[in-house]
Amino acid sequence: MGRAAAQGTIHVSAINIRDYSVEKHKKVDDYPYGGGAGMLMQAQPVYDAWKAVTDAIGHPVRTVYLTPQAQVFTQAEARSFAQEEDLILLCGHYEGIDERVLETIVTDYVSIGDYVLTGGELPALVLIDSISRMVPGVLSNADSGIDESFSENLLEYPQYTRPEEWMGKKVPEILLSGHHAKVEAWRKEQSILRTKERRPDLLEDNE
Ligand code: SAM
Repeated sequence: MGRAAAQGTIHVSAINIRDYSVEKHKKVDDYPYGGGAGMLMQAQPVYDAWKAVTDAIGHPVRTVYLTPQAQVFTQAEARSFAQEEDLILLCGHYEGIDERVLETIVTDYVSIGDYVLTGGELPALVLIDSISRMVPGVLSNADSGIDESFSENLLEYPQYTRPEEWMGKKVPEILLSGHHAKVEAWRKEQSILRTKERRPDLLEDNE
């Protein structure tokens, strides 16, 4: 990612929502109506920060709110987001963000897993990493993003590198055969076996 950013293939900016607070102490949170634990981010600074970014870009931009209240992020979504020229990733904090601004600006809701983090920053970094590697020119070997786990809803096959034997364990014979078609067939079979064993839900998604 560092290399891609240096080459200008991707560009990432962090916007501090606090800079858009109109409150003298740059506060961006307040108590939730109806009571309950914690604080909520207010609509105004979130909207103004978003508006400044979209105005600077000059065209409508897919705006992704990172939230545990969404379907879990997938490789297919990473590929879809990678098609966009620009993306806004909105990070919540405290107990989240006033619903009204979410209704106004958010186009996509994305969770990175069924657990709760303190803020959307780590989820945003997860998205940036996975989306960037789907952008042409970011991975050094253009093929390495095609054949890996979650392509065709399968996990990747087991892989081996030198030496041929390590702690008495040998590399599967077929991989040393130089027979490209047989290697491909073995890898496909291993992918299916591994997916059945570790993530059978992915195979159900294919049906
Ligand atoms: N009160 C919220 C709820 O119960 O759904 C949780 C708020 S969480 C403490 C604060 C922020 O962290 C959220 O607004 C969101 O941006 C981010 N966040 C937490 N868990 C996340 C997850 N699994 N995926 C994506 N973002 C998450």
